[in-house]
Amino acid sequence: MVGDALETRTARCGCGAVSVTVIGQPHEVYACGCLNCQRETGSVFTYTASYRGVVATVAGEVRLWRRTVDSGRWCENGFCPTCGTHVFSRSEFEADLIKIAVGCFADPDFQAPETLYYATRSHRWLGLPESTVQLDTQPD
Ligand SMILES: [Zn+2]
Ligand SMILES: [Zn+2]
Repeated sequence: MVGDALETRTARCGCGAVSVTVIGQPHEVYACGCLNCQRETGSVFTYTASYRGVVATVAGEVRLWRRTVDSGRWCENGFCPTCGTHVFSRSEFEADLIKIAVGCFADPDFQAPETLYYATRSHRWLGLPESTVQLDTQPD
């Protein structure tokens, strides 16, 4: 159905001040179990849906944290300055994509990750669907 391709979703921070609205289907849905992702979330992996930036609208005041990753390129996370929720990120490697923290959609029916990056650094108990490809690196 054509309507599915134009589906609109809104990701929100914990207090609701920051939102990102995306149109259409994600480019990629993935998880990453690397140690940086564990620290940045305080959880055991990130769960991310990337969308083409031209179909995303960011609303509200956002604080950005930019850092250099292993490749030497930059990556930055967008946070709500009030509640601290990490809502999205962008990277130099894939500058045309906005990467949304899937939990911010608050949708338990959101699709499972296609890929788990840094699988060997993930918590040992973590089980994922057989359809999720597990890799030991992540392109950045
Ligand atoms: Zn907030
Ligand atoms: Zn990671």
